[in-house]
Amino acid sequence: MINPTKSTPVVVGSGLAGLTVARALAPQRCILVTPDDLTGGAASMWAQGGIAAAIGDDDSPELHAVDTRRAGADLGDTDTIARMTAAAPDVVRRLHALGVPFDVSAGQALDLALEGGHSRRRIAHAGDRSGAAITRTVAEHVATLDSVEVRTGLNARRLVLDADGRIAGLVLRDASGTEEGIDTDRVVLATGGLGGLFAHTTNPRTALGEGIAMAARVGARTDDLHFVQFHPTALDVGLDPMPLLTEALRGAGAVLLADGVRFVDELQPRDVVAAAVWEQAQAGRRVMLDARDVPQVAARFPAVAALVQSAGLDLALDRLPVAPAVHYAMGGVTVDARSRTSVPGLWAVGEVARTGLHGGNRLASNSLLEAVVSGEAAAADLTGDSWRAGGDVPQADRSGLRAAAGRPTPPLREVRDILQRGCGVLRTAHDLRAAVDVLDEWTHDDAAYVGWLIARAALADPRSIGAHRRVDTRAAGSAA
Ligand SMILES: Cc1cc2nc3c(=O)[nH]c(=O)nc-3n(C[C@H](O)[C@H](O)[C@H](O)COP(=O)(O)OP(=O)(O)OC[C@H]3O[C@@H](n4cnc5c(N)ncnc54)[C@H](O)[C@@H]3O)c2cc1C
Repeated sequence: MINPTKSTPVVVGSGLAGLTVARALAPQRCILVTPDDLTGGAASMWAQGGIAAAIGDDDSPELHAVDTRRAGADLGDTDTIARMTAAAPDVVRRLHALGVPFDVSAGQALDLALEGGHSRRRIAHAGDRSGAAITRTVAEHVATLDSVEVRTGLNARRLVLDADGRIAGLVLRDASGTEEGIDTDRVVLATGGLGGLFAHTTNPRTALGEGIAMAARVGARTDDLHFVQFHPTALDVGLDPMPLLTEALRGAGAVLLADGVRFVDELQPRDVVAAAVWEQAQAGRRVMLDARDVPQVAARFPAVAALVQSAGLDLALDRLPVAPAVHYAMGGVTVDARSRTSVPGLWAVGEVARTGLHGGNRLASNSLLEAVVSGEAAAADLTGDSWRAGGDVPQADRSGLRAAAGRPTPPLREVRDILQRGCGVLRTAHDLRAAVDVLDEWTHDDAAYVGWLIARAALADPRSIGAHRRVDTRAAGSAA
């Protein structure tokens, strides 16, 4: 057990990003706070496809960077993309060396899968349970470290600043509602995404953007919040969250049919495929994913086969009803190359962060990579003292600052419906304005506050670009 001091960093969240920070910090001490056990509640555990890295003989980090940039509608940050894609092969090698059971081909080279938007086979995977294999391996390693004090059953609620606007502590809440404070001058947010704020999502229900709310309430800059990725093929059988039918199925040859007819190149980037699926559904056609001709599909995709079976369908025999669902947040708390936010003493890593890797749309399997690279960058920075001088992220536009007050909170169900209606696959100013107006009344509540920030960002961007599709402004010279 660590005897914490004010200079003991606190890492909030134990998905791949938070675990990476704790692992890379060792032997420097840290406290790792998580509402669940070390892997529970983390989207990292749910990743099916794998982690992208230019490992193949026909591949290079430069090609990976080109694909990443193109998928992101050229809105990504060039330096970040170059840094992360260059780091990827070594990240995968080190994870493999740590014990991640990546699939290997006959010659003992890593078996690399193809996913949409990638011009090469570059997805290192462990069957179709890649996220669980990677996250468990790292979690098992972290559990052996004396330097990490894991504190389970705790939700972070608020950040505390000192008079100079620097991090001074963190307020945590346990399941009974009891709050306690930790004094610390360093907090790393690793709280994951925000898909649970939408009625149709593939994310854990607990992915409510709480890290974004905490950071924004103390004035941290956020960017790109309206770039929310919709996965085109969530299984549409009334489950919440919606089971994901991995992109790798389409990479292996599964096709999309609307009333029995193919309507899109299935391996285009997700925003393109999601919009095509949505438009077919809006036109009243039933969209199905047909994986029946994929050789040995159930054996190759056992996790998906089990998900499909639990919905009473058979991956090898049935066409599967699909619809787009919120899957990933490209935006978040803005960070620099060291994962520093605009608030001294606050870092953000993984999906809660806006690193600049994804631009307007994430390339498949780039987020586990981002979790590791941004987590390691934060750990390296936390061990020094230079962070006290501040980072490269400009100050926030403070018009988004709202205090959390003790008023009654709106039902989460209502917030989810509002966001689903207002900030869906295809957006209009009318719907966005309606969402902003309703949520504006509720910004004392964290879920509504993050929803309001998303809707406000979407309303302010008249372009139709990346995952943000404005159908009302399309005719006025849009980029999509
Ligand atoms: C179904 C699915 C499939 C995916 N497939 C892939 C894939 O194949 N490849 C890929 O690269 N990406 C994939 N992704 C995306 C990827 O899984 C995530 O982007 C990535 O795992 C995020 O890691 P993270 O550590 O930032 O967040 P998470 O893994 O979500 O971890 C967040 C942690 O923060 C905790 N937390 C949240 N709020 C609080 C709070 N207030 N206080 C304390 N703790 C808190 C959570 O409990 C959790 O421990 C997939 C996502 C989903 C949902």
